[in-house]
Amino acid sequence: LFASVEMIPGDPILGLSEAYVADARPGKVNLGVGIYYDEQGRIPVMRAVRDVEQALAREAKPRGYLPIDGMPAYNQATQKLVFGAESPLLAAGRVATSQTIGGSGALRIGADLLKHVLPNAKVALSNPSWENHRLVFSSAGFEVVNYAYYDAETHGLDFAGMLADLGKLEPGSIVLLHACCHNPTGVDPTLEQWKQVVALVKERGLMPFIDMAYQGFDKGIETDAMAVRLFAESGIESFVVANSYSKSFSLYGERVGALSIVGKGREEALRVQSLVKRTIRSNYSSPATHGGALVAGVLNSAELRAVWEQELGEMRERIHGMRAGMVEKLAAAGEPQYGFIQQQAGMFSYSGLSKAQVDRLREEYAIYAVGTGRICVAALNRANLDTVVNAVAAVSR
Ligand code: PMP
Repeated sequence: LFASVEMIPGDPILGLSEAYVADARPGKVNLGVGIYYDEQGRIPVMRAVRDVEQALAREAKPRGYLPIDGMPAYNQATQKLVFGAESPLLAAGRVATSQTIGGSGALRIGADLLKHVLPNAKVALSNPSWENHRLVFSSAGFEVVNYAYYDAETHGLDFAGMLADLGKLEPGSIVLLHACCHNPTGVDPTLEQWKQVVALVKERGLMPFIDMAYQGFDKGIETDAMAVRLFAESGIESFVVANSYSKSFSLYGERVGALSIVGKGREEALRVQSLVKRTIRSNYSSPATHGGALVAGVLNSAELRAVWEQELGEMRERIHGMRAGMVEKLAAAGEPQYGFIQQQAGMFSYSGLSKAQVDRLREEYAIYAVGTGRICVAALNRANLDTVVNAVAAVSR
């Protein structure tokens, strides 16, 4: 029966991590991952999360099923975080939020939902985008196209190209936008540029689908949600937001995310929510309890929320410090052309390193990066920074 099934090539980034684990060289560094590591090179267990987890363990509550769209306390807290506690959209009941299996689950449920509503729409992704975006939207049955985004010359945004490509999309096309900390490039639009994007999306009648996987990783919880807030204020009737807590709560394996659909009014939001629920029901029936309870426990306690924000701020500052340190040390090593790394945001940087340079880093220096030149700045620390800088400088000469 399965004789005709062909072998599908493995995920290149996961393959890289396997090669890294198998590498016996001391001092090896893995910059290929999409995970935040602390100064000791560990995945942090955040202080506020640990508190909630210990309390949950003491209570040892029974594990019934959650509602199809998840925990109400989680969904309400998510709405406030994503749209802002004072959001008029929330007050008007225009947002329907569902707890999902990670940000990936939110993307897929959102994609399946939109396929019902806009069956013939194309989905436009930034060039480049997170690898999985294409797979998720094409698996949901959409034709996927690209809009210009990254400019390899300037290591920044090709804003004119982006506007030109978005301007050519047919009304009703779905545009996937990264709210902040663009994966894989680290390049985000400025506030002024976002305003122009929102105006264009509105004028063209496009359907915005915002993916926010790194809220709090660049400037702060509120500022990083700027794109969502601008769409909310724009008067655009409907849009979709997928958010992930994998990074901001350091809860990767707990699969915590949410899908929020904005509708014209309360009644429309309820109708859409019924379709979201059916979509979830036919996929995995209901989300998981543990991760959701951790996030809801933190966000719904003023005290723990403050502790969480403090630690998230420390993580963000650590990343900024690593960016600055890398740029400064590379300049001191005679390679001043990497200044742009400090301008980029979030965990990733498109370093501008070529495939050949990335290969040399791995083969000669045991430093692992993605073939596109993407490096995870959040995997740098004071102990490995010099090793990485010296190797990057060597392959840059
Ligand atoms: N969107 C983007 C842009 C991401 O980088 C990621 C995670 N790497 C996700 C969505 C998915 O998040 P999760 O791990 O919560 O499924």
